[in-house]
Amino acid sequence: MSLADATNSQESEDRAPPSRRFRWWLSLIVGVGGVAISLAVWYTLRVRERQLIESRFQTLAAERLRVFEREFVRNLDALETLTGLLSTMHRIERDTFYNTAHALLLRHPSLVSLQWVPRITDAQRMDLESELQQYVAGAAITEFNPQGELQPAPQRAHYYPVRFVEPMQDEFGRQLLGHDHSADPARWKAMEAARDAGEPRATGPLDMVAPPSQENDDQQNAILVYAPIYTRDFPHQTVEQRRLAVRGFVVGVFHVGTSLHAALKELAPAAIQMGILDLSAPRSHQVVHEYRWPQLEPRMVSAARSGADGLWYEARMNVGGRDWLIVAQPSAEFFSGQQSSVPLAALLAGLVLTGLLVAVTATLTTTNQRIKSVVAQRTAELVEANSELQREIDVREWAEKELARQKSEFAEANRDLEVEIQERERAELALRDSEALFHSLVEHLPLCVFRKDLEGRFTFHNEEFRAALGLPDQKIIGCTDFDLCPREMAEKYRADDLRVTKTGQIYHEVEEFYDARREKQFVEVIKTPVYDHRGKVIGMQGIFWDVTDRHLAEQRLKQARGELERSNQELQQFAHVASHDLREPLRAVEGYCCLIEKRFGEQLDPQARQYLDDAVAGVARMKDLLDGLLEYARVNFDAPRFESVDCNSVLEEALANLRRTIDESQATVEHDSLPTVSGDRRQLVRLFQNLIGNAIKYRGEKPPKVRIEANQCEQGWRIAVHDNGIGIDPKDSDRVFQIFQRANGCDRISGTGIGLSVCKRIVQRHGGRIWLESKPGQGSTFFFTLPRGEDEGT
Ligand code: ADP
Repeated sequence: MSLADATNSQESEDRAPPSRRFRWWLSLIVGVGGVAISLAVWYTLRVRERQLIESRFQTLAAERLRVFEREFVRNLDALETLTGLLSTMHRIERDTFYNTAHALLLRHPSLVSLQWVPRITDAQRMDLESELQQYVAGAAITEFNPQGELQPAPQRAHYYPVRFVEPMQDEFGRQLLGHDHSADPARWKAMEAARDAGEPRATGPLDMVAPPSQENDDQQNAILVYAPIYTRDFPHQTVEQRRLAVRGFVVGVFHVGTSLHAALKELAPAAIQMGILDLSAPRSHQVVHEYRWPQLEPRMVSAARSGADGLWYEARMNVGGRDWLIVAQPSAEFFSGQQSSVPLAALLAGLVLTGLLVAVTATLTTTNQRIKSVVAQRTAELVEANSELQREIDVREWAEKELARQKSEFAEANRDLEVEIQERERAELALRDSEALFHSLVEHLPLCVFRKDLEGRFTFHNEEFRAALGLPDQKIIGCTDFDLCPREMAEKYRADDLRVTKTGQIYHEVEEFYDARREKQFVEVIKTPVYDHRGKVIGMQGIFWDVTDRHLAEQRLKQARGELERSNQELQQFAHVASHDLREPLRAVEGYCCLIEKRFGEQLDPQARQYLDDAVAGVARMKDLLDGLLEYARVNFDAPRFESVDCNSVLEEALANLRRTIDESQATVEHDSLPTVSGDRRQLVRLFQNLIGNAIKYRGEKPPKVRIEANQCEQGWRIAVHDNGIGIDPKDSDRVFQIFQRANGCDRISGTGIGLSVCKRIVQRHGGRIWLESKPGQGSTFFFTLPRGEDEGT
């Protein structure tokens, strides 16, 4: 057992007592609660049932009371019927009374006796007693003494004796004849009330006169109802009049119990008990009738009224001026048919269920500890899992956010990628087009194109290459030069290739090549390294093409150039000779001419003098020719020293050289601002000097005017020298630039025909050209072009 397990076990033991107490408390609470709920259910059902019973009882009692009231009122009406009949009679006939009363009694069971009680004075007593004695021997006007025995009534002013009574067949009826009702205070009170009111009035319950009931054993208290009859001819509207006019009373004896029995006879026996109390009577004599209600007393009424069970019914009824209270209660038998066993069953079921609940609770709480510990463990695990889950949720939320961010970045990158892909696709298409174009171009180029890897294996070649090698059907890809060429050549090619791939330098040579027919040719070869996308050399590629004709031409040109150089050297040598060696004899000729002139000048005739002058002129001309020739040779053979030359200073120098000529001829020279050109300064001075000199020399009649202009042109600068001289026939516009050639018609002006050829040579050596535009007599314009000076840019 680990330390942690031991600690848990100890904690469990520490917690055990409170848990047991809780278990017992819980069982107790469940038990008490269950019993309480069961009792509550039982009580509720009982109350509900009681309310139903009460409702049923109230309905039943009300209904039965209405039946009683209707029945009893019908009996009371019989009294009024007889009273109404007798009131109409001037003299109340014996037969009429008995017949009517007999009939009424038969039909109204509660009405047990009808009597006619006239008011008689003491003077009339004897007559009445005589009349009564006709029917009953010894009859007299009587009254009850305190012992309840009949005795002759003492003398008084008025008597109210029974004159007629129905039934009177029995002893009881016959005793009543002559009985003075007014002798009894209670009856007299009712009689007075009836007399004064002019309406029937009842007495309280009387138990003394009631005969035993034939229908049941109930106490048959009777009530007497007095209905007054007044003298017909005497007014009886007021109480006083009624007191004077009263003739007597029709008395009805009623057994209330009979009507009550009639009303309740339909009920189950003893289901209900009912009582009638006369509230107008003294408390000790209030009970009018009791129906199965033993010993009904007024105090019981108030007690029953205040009862909480509500099983009580009462109603008020006015009978002959008396205030009757009719009360009813269900008897014990009433409940026996109404009460059900449902509340009890519910109570028992509740108790049983409570017992089961207590047992289950006890059982459950027994395992509660284990469940609690399991729950606690599970809860701890859940809490741990929950926190883990929360951490995971946090991580996941972070990851989702990160994912969303990356998604958006990815989407953006994707868009960029799509754009890039589209661009790349376009580029690939362009590349493919380019490749197709390249292949098409390469395939149809009149050049031999090939490519090799670092091991010298051919990886590409075009059709021209195959045709040049004369290998139309052989597979070349993968072969090396050693497979295709003689070993000596293959070794050379391999060495050249390795130099290209190792140094990265371009190989560009014209080399010998033997075609398919094994004929020697010359090809110009260019070999370059091939790089991969990382800039690493992965092979070489080469192109070569047939330059046999050109090579041979170059050979010939080279040979011709060598010959020309030799010729030039010879010519230069000749010029040198001409300039130096030829001057010697000329100087000798000139010297001899001077000696002849000096020594024999006097002796010479004009002809000889002319010859001598021509010889001197010829020498001078010869010297000019030699100078011109030397100049021409120098321009041709001296290598020009090109530099940036300002033509303004060149012109200035040329004009200085021509100063004497200009002055003598009164020539005017104008010029634009001239450019700086790339050239040989000395030669350019000579160029300007020759052209301006010619412009002055070949002047017309007007003083010479020379204008020098400079304009930019495609080759650089175009410079024009205008004059107003004699002009040149366009036919001679080319010829005058040839050495020793002069224009027609200028013989009178001395010249050697070398100046313009020198100018042409100078312009040519500067990469330009010279030409003229002229018409005879309209002046001439000489044009020449020169390259721009370096500081002017190109
Ligand atoms: P030269 O002047 O010594 O004869 P050039 O070679 O200088 O030789 O000129 C060749 C010829 O061109 C000249 O003989 C002349 O007939 C003609 N010529 C040259 N310049 C002019 C010009 N400015 N006006 C007319 N004719 C000219």
